[in-house]
Amino acid sequence: MKAIDRRFRFALLSAVARALLFSSTAIALPEKAAAAPRGKPPTVAEAKAFVDGAEAKLMELAVEASRAGWVQSTYITDDTEILAAKANERAINAGVEYAKKAVRYDNLKLPLDVARKMLLLKLGLTLAAPSDPREAEEVTRLAAAMEGEYGKGKYCPRKDKCLDLQDITKIMAESRDAAQLLDVWRGWHTISVPMRPEYQRFVELANKGARELGFADSGAMWRSKYDMPPDAFAKEVDRLWEQLKPLYLSLHAYVRWKLREKYGDMVPANGPIPAHLLGNMWAQDWSNVFDLVKPPEADPGFDLTKILKAKNIDAKEMVRYGERFFTSLGFEPLPPTFWDRSLFVKPRDREVVCHASAWDVDNVNDLRIKMCIEPTAEDFTTIHHELGHNFYQRAYNTKPGLFRDSANDGFHEAVGDTIALSITPEYLVKIGFLDRAPDPSKDIGLLLSRALEKLAFLPFGLIVDQWRWKVFSGEVAPANYNQAWWDLRTRYQGIAPAVARSENDFDPGAKYHVPANVPYTRYFLAAILQFQFHRALAQAAGCTGPLHRCSIYGSKEAGKKLDTMLQMGLSRPWPDALEAISGQREMDATAIRDYFAPLQKWLDEQNKGKPMGW
Ligand SMILES: [Zn+2]
Repeated sequence: MKAIDRRFRFALLSAVARALLFSSTAIALPEKAAAAPRGKPPTVAEAKAFVDGAEAKLMELAVEASRAGWVQSTYITDDTEILAAKANERAINAGVEYAKKAVRYDNLKLPLDVARKMLLLKLGLTLAAPSDPREAEEVTRLAAAMEGEYGKGKYCPRKDKCLDLQDITKIMAESRDAAQLLDVWRGWHTISVPMRPEYQRFVELANKGARELGFADSGAMWRSKYDMPPDAFAKEVDRLWEQLKPLYLSLHAYVRWKLREKYGDMVPANGPIPAHLLGNMWAQDWSNVFDLVKPPEADPGFDLTKILKAKNIDAKEMVRYGERFFTSLGFEPLPPTFWDRSLFVKPRDREVVCHASAWDVDNVNDLRIKMCIEPTAEDFTTIHHELGHNFYQRAYNTKPGLFRDSANDGFHEAVGDTIALSITPEYLVKIGFLDRAPDPSKDIGLLLSRALEKLAFLPFGLIVDQWRWKVFSGEVAPANYNQAWWDLRTRYQGIAPAVARSENDFDPGAKYHVPANVPYTRYFLAAILQFQFHRALAQAAGCTGPLHRCSIYGSKEAGKKLDTMLQMGLSRPWPDALEAISGQREMDATAIRDYFAPLQKWLDEQNKGKPMGW
C-alpha cells in the first residue's frame, strides 16, 4: 500500500452531501447537540461565515503542517520531528474544534455547497474526543500509547536477540521453514497483548465523542463518509464481496493445494490455510509465495529490472517516463518546482523516510514525490502510482479548500493503481523497452502474481473494519475481541491460526491500523475501483483485447475521461465522480472478474477434482 502521506489531511474526509437526503437516518443528531447553546438560533449567513472561516484556517494550518512534514520526512532529526508533530497537533486540534462547532448549525436549511462543507468538517475526524477535557486527554493518550507500543514492538526469541517488524517481515517473506515462520508469527502477536485493556477503554471514549457529534458510534461515524446512510454502506461492502467470492475461492483452493505439496498435512486438504504460511504476517498479500505456486510456464520472457539497468536509466529519468505517461493522455507536464523539490534518491548524509509518497505541499501546485528510487520494475510501477496522486491533486486545485480531495477515500489510491495497471508489455514496447510483447500464453504467470497481491488482499481489506464496526457498535463485547477477529478471518479469508488463541491475546492489535486507529475499508474500495476505472478507460481508449493487456498510454479519450473525474475532487458525492469516469453510479467488482477471467479459467482447470472452500 503506497501511502499518500500528506501528513495532516484536513480534507481527508469523504463526502456526504447525499447523506442530507437521508439525514434522519444518516446523521441522527441527539436533542442536546441540536439545540443552539444560548441566545438566538444561528442564521444561514452566520453558518456561511463560519464555514468560510474554518476552510481558510484549516487550509493555512494544513500547508504549515505539510511544510513541516516534508522537512521532517526528508531530514529526520529530533527537532524536525518535534516541529512536525507540533504543526500536526495545531491542525488536528483546529479540525476537532470546527467539527464540534459545526453541530450548532445542524437544523438550518443551507445552500448545498455550504451544507456539504459543514458535513465534511464533521466527518474529517477519525477520532472524536469527548468534550470532557479529562476524557479527551485520556483518549488521545491511549491512542498515542497504542501506536507507540506498535512502533516499538519487538519479538525477542533470545535475551540477546530481538527482531523488529522489518526483520520479521523479511523472515515471513523469505523463510520456507514452517517452524521458524510459526515462531516469528507467534512472537509478533505478543506485542499487542498489553493493548487489550487500552483498546477497550479507547472504544468507550471514542464512542462517547462520536455520540456527541450525533453519530450512533465511532464505526457509524466512519461509515457516514460515503454519501449514503452508514448501514447502507455496510450492505454495499457485503454486495461487493459476494461478487468477488467465486474468484477468491478459486485462488484460495489452488494456493492451498500448492502449499500442501510443499508443507504436507500441516496444510489441510479442505480446511483453512494456516495463517503463517502465506509469506505475510497478516496473510494480506501472498506475492511472496509466488515461487511455491507458480506454474512452470510462468516466465513472461522479459525482466523490466534488467532492462532498466542495461539502459542505465537513472532515478530522474524513470520519473520522466512516468510524467510522459500522463502527458500522453493530454495532461500538462509537471511544474518545474516538482523537479527541483522532489526527493528521488536516498541521500547519503542523512536519515529520510523512504516509504514512497506523493505531496501537494501548498495544496495548489507545489507537487512533489518522495521516494528512494532504485532501478527496479517495482519502483518503475510505484512512480506511475505516485504520480497518479500528484495529477489528481493538481486537477482539483481550483476547488474550494474543503473539496480538494478524492471523491471518497478509496479513490486516491485507486487512481495511482489504475495507472500502474497500464504498465503492460505493450506499453513497454511503445516506450522502447521491449522489441515486441511476449506471446499471451505467458500471461498466466503475470496474472497469477498480480492475483496473489491484489485478489488475496480483498477479504483482509474487508475484515479489519468489519471487526471494528462490530466492536464500536457493541455487537462484539470486549470478552470476545479475539474470537470475533478469528471468526471473521476464517470466514472471509479462509485462514486460521496454527496455534491456539485465547482471550488473553489481542491479535487485531498486531496490525498497525488498529492501534493507530486508521480506517481500512478505503483499501478494499481502492482495490475494487482501480479495476472499474481501468475497464472504463480501456474502453475509452478503444482497447478490445483482454483487459490485462490494455494500456491507456497515449489515449487522449481516456485522458479526458480521467481528467473529468479528477477535477471534481470531493465537490460532489462520489457516485457522480464514478459516473464521470465509468458511466456507472455503483461500485462494481465485475471489472476485477473481467480482468482475471483468463486466470479464473486456468485456475478452474487446475482445481478440477480438488476441494474448494473450507
Ligand atoms: Zn498511493
